Amino acid sequence: MRRNRQTKILATIGPASSDFEMITSLFVAGVDLFRLNFSHGSHDGHRKVLDRIRKVEAIYNHPIGVIGDLQGPKLRIGNFENDSISLDKGQSFRFDSEKSPGNEKRVYLPHPEVLESMEVGSHIFLDDGKVRIEITDKGEGFLEGVVQSGSSLSNHKGFNIPNVILPIAALTEKDKTDLKAAIDMGVDWIAQSFVQKPEDVKEVKELIQGRASLMAKIEKPSALACLGDIIDIADGIMLARGDLGVEIPPEDVPSVQKNVIRQVRDTGKPVVIATQMLESMIENARPTRAEASDVATAIYDGADCIMLSAETAVGEYPQRAVEMMDRIAQRTEQDDNYIEMMELARPDTINTPSDAITTAAYYVAQDVDAKLIVNYTTSGSTALRTARQRPEVPILCLTPDLNAARRLMLSYGVHTVYDKDKIEDFTGPARHAAEIAIEKGFLKKGDSFIMTAGVPFGVSGSTNILRIARAE
Ligand code: PGA
Ligand code: MN
Repeated sequence: MRRNRQTKILATIGPASSDFEMITSLFVAGVDLFRLNFSHGSHDGHRKVLDRIRKVEAIYNHPIGVIGDLQGPKLRIGNFENDSISLDKGQSFRFDSEKSPGNEKRVYLPHPEVLESMEVGSHIFLDDGKVRIEITDKGEGFLEGVVQSGSSLSNHKGFNIPNVILPIAALTEKDKTDLKAAIDMGVDWIAQSFVQKPEDVKEVKELIQGRASLMAKIEKPSALACLGDIIDIADGIMLARGDLGVEIPPEDVPSVQKNVIRQVRDTGKPVVIATQMLESMIENARPTRAEASDVATAIYDGADCIMLSAETAVGEYPQRAVEMMDRIAQRTEQDDNYIEMMELARPDTINTPSDAITTAAYYVAQDVDAKLIVNYTTSGSTALRTARQRPEVPILCLTPDLNAARRLMLSYGVHTVYDKDKIEDFTGPARHAAEIAIEKGFLKKGDSFIMTAGVPFGVSGSTNILRIARAE
């Protein structure tokens, strides 16, 4: 089940994709990691999905990453009597503190601080900005507004109120419960939503205590302002364009995307580009040209991973959306422009033995026309250092740590194999690696490959050997 691309695909699970058959189909179509969205569903539901993913993983003997995405202090409306409503431009609509299900005229807004701090004349943007309502009146426990754009709303849609700063904590009570549940069920990554400052990430990092990796979602202007410090603490970054694109002007999104990818890639940590990548495929079997271009742009920009949200969670064509992403990624990575762009944006080498080896591996692979770079790694850090170079050939990471194998599914070009075999000297490993690489479809007999490892074996952070080998 080798992938024929370096860019990874992350798909969000939802009602359209939570059964075993669909999870299997999506994995076969190209999904490298799944996202469990803790904004929706029950712990029991997520646990069942995770069990199914682990079953697929075992059947195909192929590590799959799982991300538990915490809702964070996201503002959401309540639900509706009939799950959704239609809206007309110019109609009035009310947000109030009544817990009862909403209708065409009103909905519950479970954030008293919002009801209090919004002013007449300000705007509420709902459903990723698709619905815009201007506040025209307010009173005890309610806001009255006029619909300026948008045609429908459904249960628990998120909303943004740009320019209004609310006194809310980085982690809600729900997040704390969800975080514990996600870690207990065994997710590989935790995604933290609405990070505003480095301290927010630190707080969660301390709660996780190394039991999962932590991805900071960048979706607030304030997080962009201190991105470097956030990257230092987090293990990975998601550019969450859905909320970000409502909080900052749309014209800022493309350059922000390029800068964020550049900055994260420099550190070797993985970066995900998320939201609306193939949005129209929620309803249509084919994407728009603009969407195909957007997926390709994220790849040209050097992203590690591209994400599907509603396309796979609630869309009509989850499998086709994954297939389409896979095809766009394969096609884009073959473009000479792409190869040149990756080369031009290569980060400077850092003066550590590990970086010296992984940089050398990049060049030697080109010089001897190697078909693969093999990393023996315990923690996965060598694979991250290699991925940072964005080599043209795949990186096969052999690790005795199954959790590292799953976590690394997020990183550019890294194909992981959980390899229990104890490696004790450096004569056997080349043959051993070649056997695995041939079996997984990365090498043919006679192909050259590069191997990096640390001697003595099994000591994390000790990469100090580079070897050119041939598959026999
Ligand atoms: P969400 O995050 O789907 O959890 O909102 C992604 C985004 O905001 O783009
Ligand atoms: Mn978001």
